[in-house]
Amino acid sequence: MAEKIKMTTPLVEMDGDEMTRIIWKMIKDILIYPYVDLKSEYYDLGLEYRNETNDKVTVDSAEATKKYGVAVKCATITPNADRMTEYNLKEMWKSPNGTIRAILDGTVFRTPIIVKGITPYIPTWTKPITIARHAYGDVYKNTEMQVKDGAKCELVVTDKDGKETRQLIHEFKGSDGIIQGLHNIDKSIGSFARACFNFALDSKKDLWFASKDTISKKYDHRFKDIFNEIFEAEYKEKFDEAGIEYFYTLIDDAVARVVRSEGGYIWACKNYDGDVMSDMVATAYGSLAMMTSVLVSPDGVYEYEAAHGTVQRHYYKHLKGEETSTNSVATLFAWTGALRKRGELDKLPELMNFADKLEEATIKTIEDGVMTGDLYLLSNLENKKKVNTEDFLLAVNDRLKEML
Ligand code: NAP
Ligand code: MG
Repeated sequence: MAEKIKMTTPLVEMDGDEMTRIIWKMIKDILIYPYVDLKSEYYDLGLEYRNETNDKVTVDSAEATKKYGVAVKCATITPNADRMTEYNLKEMWKSPNGTIRAILDGTVFRTPIIVKGITPYIPTWTKPITIARHAYGDVYKNTEMQVKDGAKCELVVTDKDGKETRQLIHEFKGSDGIIQGLHNIDKSIGSFARACFNFALDSKKDLWFASKDTISKKYDHRFKDIFNEIFEAEYKEKFDEAGIEYFYTLIDDAVARVVRSEGGYIWACKNYDGDVMSDMVATAYGSLAMMTSVLVSPDGVYEYEAAHGTVQRHYYKHLKGEETSTNSVATLFAWTGALRKRGELDKLPELMNFADKLEEATIKTIEDGVMTGDLYLLSNLENKKKVNTEDFLLAVNDRLKEML
């Protein structure tokens, strides 16, 4: 066999929990180590070690990502009451993804992996739609109240010199009611816009953004203006050179266009729109196990992961010694995404080529009819065959060997 591919800068590796932790090791043993002289800085984000380090390991892994620029993350347990007893936890540690996102201040981009034999519920979607969700503010950081009949509700802003500005929200006459206060900040909206413009340039895809600026003439309009100002000042020429487009429209119009489209673009969404639309898009493409996810920070740091969780039910089967057929594709594409980006930043064409070939081999395996149980249920190939977790990766390796 040819010499292993060399790396120059370490990849930050964030290990995780349950079935995805099992898959993590299999991917490295079967598909990475034999070909790449893997240089990684390893952080164990498995719940046991997070508990042991009082979750310091999560913060350390995020800091390392800032330092080196690229990370690959395994799915991790976000503890709840059941996990407190199962793992005998000192505290109900926060979601690692939340902690990492807060440190990197990033935007998450989710893209489905499309294969022949699995038709999206919207059959015209022959190309992937990438959803970018703004992950700060709006209804997720709201203040809300139930109010009684007769109440007068106002928006009061006290500026830094103590001067008050008031506006009436509503005077409740004849009924009790509800009110809600929202906010966002220009800085976060600007970071979101830049992350989206950079990702569009990186992936050479058009960028769509939509809000309800006709109704929300200050709040949503501010999003539209910030996107537009940044685009005109910093990205217009680069987009022209790359032959891609930035396109703004009303959210209702965007939804109608998305349904009629063939896909192939990035759809930037405000926080709530992204929450809802990402679930719709993921479901329409067929499987969360075929959805990649990357967190991109405004200063160009990348963290790749799968969009699904730790697949707990399969893990318990695995622990009982039963055979599993868990889909490793999204986790595998987190690895290829991270290796390709590392190769791009360090100018290692061989590493980039390896990532491309590994993805091609994975897709070819499924299109040859070899797949895990979740896809077996969805695929309309005639010669399809269900294989177990490990045999799928071995089948990918058979094809990879031929391609390299
Ligand atoms: P999940 O792990 O995504 O699994 C939900 C169900 O979806 C599974 O039981 C399985 O269905 C199917 N599924 C998901 N991924 C699959 C794959 N790769 N191959 C085959 N089937 C797959 O979500 P969850 O059960 O709600 O959460 C489990 C744990 O993951 C929780 O502790 C949660 O905190 C954590 N989580 C972590 C992340 C993250 O780190 N990014 C994200 C979400 C959840 P069947 O059982 O019907 O086969
Ligand atoms: Mg949601």
